[in-house]
Amino acid sequence: MQLLTVLGSTGSIGVSTLDVVAMHPDRYQVFALTGHSQLELLARQCVRFQPCYAVVGQEELAIKLRGLLPRDCPTKVLSGVESLVAVAEHDDVDIVMAAIVGAAGLLPSLAAAKAGKRLLLANKESLVVAGRLMMEAVADNGGVLLPIDSEHNAIFQSLPAGYRGESRKSLGVEKILLTASGGPFRTSSASAMLKVTPEQACAHPNWSMGRKISVDSATLMNKGLELIEACWLFSVEPAEVEVVVHPQSVIHSMVQYVDGSVIAQLGNPDMRTPIAYGLAWPERIASGVSPLDMVATSRLDFEAPDLERFPCLRLAAEAFNVGGSACATLNAANEVAVAAFLREELSFMGIAALVERVLNSAPQFGSDSLEALIEADNVARRMATEQLSSTA
Ligand code: NAD
Ligand code: MG
Repeated sequence: MQLLTVLGSTGSIGVSTLDVVAMHPDRYQVFALTGHSQLELLARQCVRFQPCYAVVGQEELAIKLRGLLPRDCPTKVLSGVESLVAVAEHDDVDIVMAAIVGAAGLLPSLAAAKAGKRLLLANKESLVVAGRLMMEAVADNGGVLLPIDSEHNAIFQSLPAGYRGESRKSLGVEKILLTASGGPFRTSSASAMLKVTPEQACAHPNWSMGRKISVDSATLMNKGLELIEACWLFSVEPAEVEVVVHPQSVIHSMVQYVDGSVIAQLGNPDMRTPIAYGLAWPERIASGVSPLDMVATSRLDFEAPDLERFPCLRLAAEAFNVGGSACATLNAANEVAVAAFLREELSFMGIAALVERVLNSAPQFGSDSLEALIEADNVARRMATEQLSSTA
């Protein structure tokens, strides 16, 4: 029996994780659940999975959640970032699903890595902000990092077993083919993209996801963040990663080898597949995902991304190449911009423009310490917010 903490259990990935866990009560027991809003959902999850702990943002929310739980529920309700960290690094925990959205997930993800846990990482922003620290924490503490992002999970599955970045040449790995659906505006004209609404941006053609990642998928910033994520996870440079638009989202990514072979992982677009893979690796377990019907799929299309209409992809590669704290700046500016777009205070194309302005004017803080990266994040948020109010 393995004990599991789900950080962000009320989100899209969190709910899918508990779906898979519920299918395997003989293998997994929930130790802790965490949420930020949606207290009623969190209360139902506590009743269903009987975790030792539930963690919410602030003490007022904790009081409300305690009020929602029946008397016989054994769950202890805690609040605050220190408690998120505590349930991620707790001695009893074997597996941590990191499914908080944004840089808010960094501290608990890093705590799980430092505690040598099996870390199932959906929270890509923690690698974007602090890739080096995250990878070092896993390596130095005997942990295992399994990517849950579907593309990176596919790449992990398509690489040779025991792959290490330093040995990629001797293993014959030539490059990574990172697939992108292209999002809801793949075929939209540049002028139509000026008038996009949050509802249109969140209506992803293939995946059902949280609102922030849905907007990131529409701007292709998601692919940019994933490019950075791939560079850290697989020790490659942006030039060794080719983004390929594949509108059906059936191939989840590929690895190209020197002999001309391309190995891909395919499946229906449902996050329960990579979640089940991460939970059970190196074994495999049922996920509840229906098998891929190749005949019904019938065709797979591919095209190059359009960097003119989707500048975020270029900005992300530039930030990674600059290094230091640039990716933390990129991520923080993007979080502010996406939230403003969702509040209808910034246009869709304004997201990339705002990120670019902040990236070009923010100071460099280096990437050697967590404090430097948090400072870069804070400064970028402040600059982005100031830009917003000066253009409003
Ligand atoms: P979501 O918005 O549906 O859920 C986010 C979760 O984080 C919720 O439980 C919420 O309560 C919690 N949360 C939000 N802000 C918080 C804060 N400040 N402090 C603590 N908790 C907070 O998001 P999602 O779509 O499930 O995505 C979660 C992560 O997984 C993101 O990093 C996303 O990029 C990544 N991801 C998601 C998908 C997907 O299909 N949804 C696919 C790949 C990667
Ligand atoms: Mg992805």
